[in-house]
Amino acid sequence: MAASLLRPMGPSRPQPIDRTRTMSESPPLIDPGTRKQRLRQARDSAAVTLARLQTQHPTAHCELDHSSPFELLVAVVLSAQTTDVAVNKATPRLFARYPDAPAMAKATPQEIEPFVASLGFFRAKSKAIVGLARSLVTLHRGNVPRSLDALIQLPGVGRKTANVVLGVAFGCPAGIVVDTHVSRVSQRLGWTRQTDPTRIESDISQLFSADLWDRASHTIVIHGRRCCEARNPRCSECSVNDLCPSAFDAVRIGRKRPTLRTK
Ligand code: SF4
Repeated sequence: MAASLLRPMGPSRPQPIDRTRTMSESPPLIDPGTRKQRLRQARDSAAVTLARLQTQHPTAHCELDHSSPFELLVAVVLSAQTTDVAVNKATPRLFARYPDAPAMAKATPQEIEPFVASLGFFRAKSKAIVGLARSLVTLHRGNVPRSLDALIQLPGVGRKTANVVLGVAFGCPAGIVVDTHVSRVSQRLGWTRQTDPTRIESDISQLFSADLWDRASHTIVIHGRRCCEARNPRCSECSVNDLCPSAFDAVRIGRKRPTLRTK
């Protein structure tokens, strides 16, 4: 069980950020012993790390626009391989025409396609959301179920999508949402050495109490998008650069072909 976020532990202050340093200058040297020590302490320091990240990103939340669990579920499915901004541009017209599962279940994928044509893989996604709507009607009277087991039985719905819906729409996530950002950031922070999303979810979920899972998920996602970027981690601007075992040497860690630190 995670330590309370109200109780600071471990090193309490980040290194001062030198905002005068330019991109052409070398990053600060962190000796291997310090990195090893940070890696050993990473999971024990997770509560402090998360609290700082929440302070750095106080408005982190699900950025997919929706007004019902059904709309959120469809938006998450549509967000695969594209941005939330792109999905938010497409969904108002889609949801105005097909506001719930029974309405969408009556449509054909070809009828859906013009509404999502601005998104990548729009033909496959049209087919997926129609199949999803039909399953909701057949299995759940058109309603979105509130359990992980029921959600992941639906076509095109995995643990990531299910945990977003459970956390955001119902306030009862079954674990941390693991997308590409959470996967990368959690490896860099030393919270996991796993690369399989289900194992990463298990490792991170053990660090925090269940009531923190939803906010933690959005905080880590936003940190990955805005600070700990895959190709350009902004370690000098990061609030946890004194705790992170990968600080100033992160670019190879947590990418799609990860090179995990072994020493
Ligand atoms: S790798 Fe850099 S940006 Fe990412 S969490 Fe660590 S210190 Fe922050």
